[in-house]
Amino acid sequence: MTETATDRINLSAPWIDERDEELVLEVLRSGWLSLGPTGPRFESMLADWIGVPYAAAVSSGTAGLHLCMRLAGVGPGDEVITSPYSFVASANCAIYEGATPVFADIDPHTFNLDPAAVEAAITPRTKALVAVDIFGYPAEYDELLPLCERHGIALVEDSCEALGAMYKGKPLGSHGHPAVWAFYPNKQMTTGEGGAVTTGNEDEYELLVSLRNQGRLETSSWLQHGRLGYNYRLDDISAALGVGQLEKLDRILPARREVAALYGELLQGVDVETPLADDADHVRSWFVYVVKLPVGADRSGVMERMAAQGIATAPYLPSIHLQSYMRERYGFSEGMLPVSEDCSARTMALPFHARLERADQERVVEALRGAIR
Ligand SMILES: *Cc1c(COP(=O)(O)O)cnc(C)c1O
Repeated sequence: MTETATDRINLSAPWIDERDEELVLEVLRSGWLSLGPTGPRFESMLADWIGVPYAAAVSSGTAGLHLCMRLAGVGPGDEVITSPYSFVASANCAIYEGATPVFADIDPHTFNLDPAAVEAAITPRTKALVAVDIFGYPAEYDELLPLCERHGIALVEDSCEALGAMYKGKPLGSHGHPAVWAFYPNKQMTTGEGGAVTTGNEDEYELLVSLRNQGRLETSSWLQHGRLGYNYRLDDISAALGVGQLEKLDRILPARREVAALYGELLQGVDVETPLADDADHVRSWFVYVVKLPVGADRSGVMERMAAQGIATAPYLPSIHLQSYMRERYGFSEGMLPVSEDCSARTMALPFHARLERADQERVVEALRGAIR
């Protein structure tokens, strides 16, 4: 770094304040660090905030997705359809239960599953569909849900990037099927590590609560386990942080929206495709700010030139089917999912969080403008 190098601008940053510290400290001082009162407090706040009857907190979004595979009865020999343009967890959850992930291609602008491609991927072995609301943009549930019903397929929503998003006027999570949330520090709100599954179905909720706690039966006495479960509990320290985050979520989300809107303005005239705007049916919750570079652009060169100015970016997202373990295990290769692969080659995440300052956003955009040229 030269002397003129300015401060580094990071990709993401959680919003942690004194209230969060206070809540965490309260739990620490209570001595009740797990299976205490703060877990249920967090869960009922989360369910209320989203507007769903039940929320089961878990140790991560990945754990939540795995439990949803158990809810759907996914097992060896089954196929689970999902999006290749996602975080690996949305496909891995099927593999954990011995099923085969089947990828359907995406829409090049929403980056979400193309319902026609999903339909074409259905076989007699298809057991579940994991639809992802990628980058906080709602997937097309009015098309996916009837498709699943017609074919007897369970629908699981990976809404890990979409807390606060709305589809057709209703919040994600409230459309009937189970939805999975994640609270890793780069998400809209954080518990450190953590996640949740929401559902409107009491039986599903009870099964989730049992499965996350080693398969313990609701009715059983101490250490009676009725089924194979996991330790996917969220501890009370993390839940306390979650309470603090939920208390300010109605400030965090608009702040993220404003940062996104300013990027939209600043990027006018820069040769990139900016994220799809909301419409009446789709209201995004801003998770990351991803731009698509023009065909033939040298993305790694652009990233290097921005990094030299202290600006973090990420080649976001790689297509899951081209990850080395996926290629080795299933023989997937280039050309299988051309839309996803093209997006993966050209999309790039810019620094983005609720408290990113205007001056930093201007620096990011100027650096990008220069780096593309
Ligand atoms: C963050 C995320 C998850 C879950 O991540 P964890 O780190 O396990 O909490 C799952 N799917 C998507 C699309 C995500 O972005």
